[in-house]
Amino acid sequence: MSHSPDCIFCKIIGGEIPSATVYEDEHVVAFMDIGQVTKGHTLLIPKDHQENIFELEEETAAHLFSTAPKIARALRKEFQPKGMNLVNNNGKAASQSVFHYHLHFIPRYDENDGFQ
Ligand code: 5GP
Ligand code: ZN
Repeated sequence: MSHSPDCIFCKIIGGEIPSATVYEDEHVVAFMDIGQVTKGHTLLIPKDHQENIFELEEETAAHLFSTAPKIARALRKEFQPKGMNLVNNNGKAASQSVFHYHLHFIPRYDENDGFQ
């Protein structure tokens, strides 16, 4: 399992930075985004440090995406949104700011809930 010492998300995985965990297994962890674009905004990441979709290993992707429906359903149960966006930014030009792969779960409440 690779770990990048200056990566914020590797520090979250290692417990050096606290976070509110939503789901965790051997390969992935999901936790609340510190920014909360909408209520319940969550990030799902691999425990292995892989920068973005261009580096993401297929096996890692397969496991990560296999957990996505249960995370979406758990967030829907908890926060009762009307819908949910799954978003993933890859590369600086695409607004990626943390270079450890992450999938955003953004619960949607109505058209004025803060996310376009
Ligand atoms: P990106 O812009 O790379 O797609 O998303 C990075 C996300 O990481 C942002 O939504 C930002 O709020 C979140 N983030 C950055 N630092 C931390 C942190 O220390 N803890 C948590 N929980 N989220 C963070
Ligand atoms: Zn990392």
